[in-house]
Amino acid sequence: MDSALEAALRLRIIDWVHQRAEANGGFLRRDELLDFHIDGQKIPVIDYSRGIRNPSAFASTLSIVSTANGPYDDTEADDGLLHYAYRSGDPWSGDNRKLRHAMTTGQPLILFRKEVANIYTPVAPVYVVDDEPENSMFLIALDESFTFVPDVRHLTQPQREYALRLAKQRLHQPAFRTRVLVAYETRCAICELKHGALLDAAHIVPDSEEAGVPTTTNGLALCKIHHSAYDQNMLGITADHRVDIALDLLAEIDGPMLKHGLQEMHGRFLKLPRKRSDRPDRELLSWRYERFVARTH
Ligand SMILES: [Zn+2]
Repeated sequence: MDSALEAALRLRIIDWVHQRAEANGGFLRRDELLDFHIDGQKIPVIDYSRGIRNPSAFASTLSIVSTANGPYDDTEADDGLLHYAYRSGDPWSGDNRKLRHAMTTGQPLILFRKEVANIYTPVAPVYVVDDEPENSMFLIALDESFTFVPDVRHLTQPQREYALRLAKQRLHQPAFRTRVLVAYETRCAICELKHGALLDAAHIVPDSEEAGVPTTTNGLALCKIHHSAYDQNMLGITADHRVDIALDLLAEIDGPMLKHGLQEMHGRFLKLPRKRSDRPDRELLSWRYERFVARTH
């Protein structure tokens, strides 16, 4: 395939991945990725068995899959770059050659973080920025700017801080959303709204605090309105999962969103994940509820 055509097709695939993920709530299912069609042609976006997708007509890799290990990724390193091991076989041909080609041409690719079986969080575009033959690995960056850094193996302190901040925004936060939404079966824990595009993963203890880790037990799947209301302490959740609406809001008189969307939630109980290990941590809920009470009473 002509390289300009390949580049254009690649961008359309990345666009589709973003749009579909956004509609689902930030993730894609395996069957959607395998059954992708463009211009009447079927192009699976992942390779299920090998974890690297190199369409035969493409000169550069289209996607790679990494496996989540808690909030972090199996390819993550403390420099904020991803360290992706050479694929098995000849380091200079096949899959490895196509990854190297993505590096020399600067073509973007898609990283899929596999959170749980059959569920993938896309991170795109990412760039192959260096090759370490002595360690049999490629270095992958989350931002095109790293393709212009002369020596990515020795990042300066500000570059490293930037890379780590990017990892938080582009890897950890989207992955947190996926894990929480999947645990809650893509449903707001308060009102049971089921549209992934309108759902967030809310932190119980905010991520500005030390205990504010991106784990499912510090998360709640909430629709955008209930997430904002929770963050603003207009709504509190007790350790026993009861929803409290702030007294001043209960006294207010306004239209249907206030009445049905907020006031009528007062006294409801959260719809929790089926799996016990995914349910919110009582101590974290208590910590947060104390802040709600302090602000509203
Ligand atoms: Zn809701």
